[in-house]
Amino acid sequence: MKQVNILGIPFTNIDHVTLVQQLQQHIEKREKSFVATANPEIVMRAHDDSYYMNCLQAASYITADGVGIVKASQLLKNPLPERVTGYDIMMEFLKKANENKYRIYLLGAKEDTLERAVKTINHDYPDIEVAGYRNGYFHWDDPTIAEDIERTKPDIIFVALGAPKQERWIAENFQTFGQGVFICVGGSIDVIAG
Ligand code: UDP
Repeated sequence: MKQVNILGIPFTNIDHVTLVQQLQQHIEKREKSFVATANPEIVMRAHDDSYYMNCLQAASYITADGVGIVKASQLLKNPLPERVTGYDIMMEFLKKANENKYRIYLLGAKEDTLERAVKTINHDYPDIEVAGYRNGYFHWDDPTIAEDIERTKPDIIFVALGAPKQERWIAENFQTFGQGVFICVGGSIDVIAG
């Protein structure tokens, strides 16, 4: 996969539709994967915080979340194709999940917001099975979340804890999972809940 390095962050040269196609292949092959979306704030944070940089670099794909990142890649004469946000990936993937009857897991947001989002997804995408969900206000070392994901074996895990928590949580727990596509989606659950 072609990469574009911006201040130490290896961005993946990919558009959101191709990325989702690629992630579907990981699901079919039962390979695990980690998708981060980095905006300028995340790039600057990683630049100043080596632990966070390591978490981001553990991602299988890092997309450009913001026109500023796309502009920077153009200045470096190595242009990224488009801005790819967590929300773009999530909406495209929900369509594919419905077509293919994938099982999803939602991690993050406040409990009432999360429950509203689950209802909306169940209504709008009737062929998706929500394998489980947990709100994003848990004790950092609570092992039951990773255990729940490992037990229910969802195909896709949308992680909506905001930056930097979502990247840290996936990086710190990734080795415990045998499969699953883990995607950082920021405030997308709030948007879906309306
Ligand atoms: N959130 C969470 N746990 C936390 C902090 C935040 O679940 O400890 C959720 C919050 O409720 C919201 C999302 O993470 O649903 C972050 O949204 P925000 O718009 O701040 O994230 P961004 O898209 O800017 O990264």
